[in-house]
Order: sequence, then structure tokens, then C-alpha cells
Amino acid sequence: MANETCAHLTGLTNLVDPAGKVCTLCVEVGDTWVHLRACLDCGMVGCCDSSKNRHARKHWGAHSHPLIQSIEPGESWRYCFIDDVAVA
Ligand SMILES: [Zn+2]
Ligand SMILES: [Zn+2]
Ligand SMILES: [Zn+2]
Repeated sequence: MANETCAHLTGLTNLVDPAGKVCTLCVEVGDTWVHLRACLDCGMVGCCDSSKNRHARKHWGAHSHPLIQSIEPGESWRYCFIDDVAVA
């Protein structure tokens, strides 16, 4: 784990449950994804950086929600786009 820290997580009072198990933005345009990430701020589910459309990263750019969590089975790590670190 990196030594860097993230101050953004502490600003979130209510962590929102993921909105679903699909990237709805990919579904809308008929694309597929590799892995799913959920926004910790609003619950938006988007695809990861290995996916063609990178909707989780675009969501950060559009809504300034830098914190995501993996919702892949067996994964629960969180990540901050701004700090580029995994957060607890
Ligand atoms: Zn951060
Ligand atoms: Zn997507
Ligand atoms: Zn969000």
C-alpha cells in the first residue's frame, strides 16, 4: 500500500450503494466493459480504465466524484482518481 493519503474519503458522510451491476452508459450505446466500478459519492456504476469507454473515469471528470470502489465479486478496494492511490 502506498504511503500517500487521500483526504477526499473523509468528506463523504453517506457512502451510497452501487446503483446496479451494469455500466448503464455502455448498455445505452451497446458497448461492453471489462470491470465495474461504483462511485462512492452518488452510486453511479461505470466501467474501469481497462474498458473501452472508461465511464468511471469520465464520471469523475464530469461530476468531480473522485472516489470509486470495485464491485467485482470478491473485490472491495477503493481508489481515488485525484490522489491516484488506493484508499481504505
Ligand atoms: Zn483523494
Ligand atoms: Zn461504460
Ligand atoms: Zn458520482
